[in-house]
Order: sequence, then structure tokens, then C-alpha cells
Amino acid sequence: MYNNIRTPYYLMDENLIIKNLEILKSVSDRTGARILLAQKAFSMYSLYPLIGRYLSGTTASSLNEARLGHEEMPGRETHIFAPAYKEDDFKEIAKICDHIIFNSFSQWKKYAPFAKGAECGIRINPEYSEIETEIYNPCARGSRMGVTLSAFEGEDLSGISGLHFHTMCEQNSDTLWRTVLEVEKKFGRYLTRMKWLNFGGGHHITRSDYDLETLIRSIEYMRDKYDLQIYLEPGEAVALNAGFLVTEVLDIVKNDIETAILDTSAACHMPDVLEMPYRPPLSGSERPGEKKYTYRLAGPTCLAGDIIGDYSFDNPLKPGDRLVFEDMAIYTTVKNNTFNGINLPGIVLRRRDGAVETMRSFGYSDFKSRL
Ligand SMILES: *Cc1c(COP(=O)(O)O)cnc(C)c1O
Repeated sequence: MYNNIRTPYYLMDENLIIKNLEILKSVSDRTGARILLAQKAFSMYSLYPLIGRYLSGTTASSLNEARLGHEEMPGRETHIFAPAYKEDDFKEIAKICDHIIFNSFSQWKKYAPFAKGAECGIRINPEYSEIETEIYNPCARGSRMGVTLSAFEGEDLSGISGLHFHTMCEQNSDTLWRTVLEVEKKFGRYLTRMKWLNFGGGHHITRSDYDLETLIRSIEYMRDKYDLQIYLEPGEAVALNAGFLVTEVLDIVKNDIETAILDTSAACHMPDVLEMPYRPPLSGSERPGEKKYTYRLAGPTCLAGDIIGDYSFDNPLKPGDRLVFEDMAIYTTVKNNTFNGINLPGIVLRRRDGAVETMRSFGYSDFKSRL
């Protein structure tokens, strides 16, 4: 793809993002729920003016993310949640965030005097989640994420105007519906005193099999029963299936199996492949053995486990071939790194009208400046 652009590069597609944004906006339009971009999944701020036309604002996990949302999506809401805030950061957080969510009553008590201009909320832990990957499960035993009911009871709620839960990951709305009932069972008596409730992220709203009606029912249920403004803060759903990672084959090596060494790395450029772990979709390929030629695709780093996965093709691979990984807009540019001195992929945007523009390219100074 685009043989004149140096690989590796991420290709973000504006039309595919707009398709997602239209679905999200239809949910807001039908329910009055406000939807925020969770920047930790996707922070391509050159698109924030576009995103801000469809969504109500951004949410952040740190002062830096909050600043980015505040600066690049001006006039929209800026929310923040962090497991704990640093004193040095908090003054500025209070200045730029209109919603500040605390992870404990001790943090709330410490910062309440400085947070007067903001809507303040508490993240609750409903101790209910259907996430099976432990590192993504905020309701795992002993989790530091959110206040459990037993720690919540007896606390003074004056000054707290909302609650927040985030217990989902890449899930459909049937999970949300069960979660909402669980939240109500445990925290319902506190909801009557709140103005807003944030359903967090992890809603795969823009996936083709997502059940929008159950999402809408869940929002309306809480909205109407407790008279709440509902917020959602999806990350993935905003840029799901809206980006690609284009790479070139550098060499083919044999040792029982054939491995194609690429100029992109799982460890550096798609860390969730190793962390989650998962096998990213690749255009024109099938599972190993399904097509005639099977290869293991691996990165150029010294990490033995820098393996993307096994794939099969109609034709043999050779050095210089370009391969296109799919669904590479989310949790990539925000997480990538220069381990081994491997260059960061460029960031290229395909505009609505098909024009292709290189937004960023990276080199030695990006590697050196962090060391
Ligand atoms: C990660 C996270 C999100 C976004 O999650 P997605 O799975 O990308 O939708 C939203 N809110 C909080 C508090 C998060 O930690």
C-alpha cells in the first residue's frame, strides 16, 4: 500500500473514524447520554476537531492527557480519572478539568478544597465484571480500582455529584445490562443523590455485532429511574477498525518453520499483541495451513518472543513485500516505544476525499530524546 511511503507506518482512515463517530452520535441523540473519547486508546489530536463535532469531549488518565484534550478539543468537556493524583499536578488538573473522578475517599478529602470549580465523582467498584483476562480486570480480587460497597458505606458524600464505574473490556451491551443491574443492587440508594453516572469504557459499540438497543435500554433505565445524566467514555469504539499498520518483509528464515522478519515489531509497535495477547488481522491472509504458504511473522528486535503470529498466504512471501495489519488505530501510537532503537512508525492520514497525508514521521532524535 502506498509504495512511496516509507514503512512501517500507521495509516488512519478518516472515513472509517467518521463511520464510528456517527454510530456513537446516534446513541447520544437518542438518549441524551454524553460520550467522551478515552484518550488512552487513541490520541491522534489532529482529528480532535472532527471528533469534537460528534462527541461531548475527552477523558484523561493523567494531567498530560487532560491538557491534550483541553487544548485540542477546546470548548468541549474534559474529564479525568486516575488511581491517585500527585499534588504537583492537581492545581492544573483543577483548572482544566470540569469533571474529576477520585479513586478513594482519602484522595477526595485531600483534594476537595482545590477542586471547587469541578464536578467531583467517586469511582465505584461494583465487584462484578465479566472480563477473563486478569490484567484487564478492574474487579479482580484485591483490585485497587474503585471503592467497594463496604468501603463506601458511611462516607460523607457532600460535594460528590456523580459516580463512575469501569468494569468492561471489548464487551457487548448484554454485559453492560447485567453490570448496570449489579451497580443498582449495590449502589442504588446512593444514586438517588447523584446528578450523573459514568458507565466507563470497554463498550464495543462500533463492532458489527454490537447490540445498540440493549445499550440504549441500559442508559434509559438509569437515566429515568434515578434522574441522571449518563456518560460513556469509550476508547476503542471511537477508532475501532479505523487504522492499519503497513510493514515490509525484510527476510525469510527457516528453522522447522518459515519466519518472515518484518520491519515492524509486536513489542514496539503493537504491544497489546503480546500483552493481551491476540493475533491481529492481516489483509489477504488466513489462519496457518488454510492457504498454501504459512509463515510466522516476527519483529526485527532481539526479543525472541517478538512474534506477531502465524498466517498463511496464496503466494510465497519475499523480501520487499508489503503486508497490512488491520485494526491498528487503537492502543498502538499511544503505547509504542523505541526498544532496541527501533524507529517509531510514521503516522499517515487518509482524508475523507482520499488524499493521503503524512502527519508525523520519526527518527533518531525521537529515540535519543527519551534517554
Ligand atoms: C481504559 C479506560 C477507558 C476506555 O476503555 P476502552 O476499552 O478503550 O473503551 C475508559 N475509562 C477508563 C476509566 C479506562 O480506564
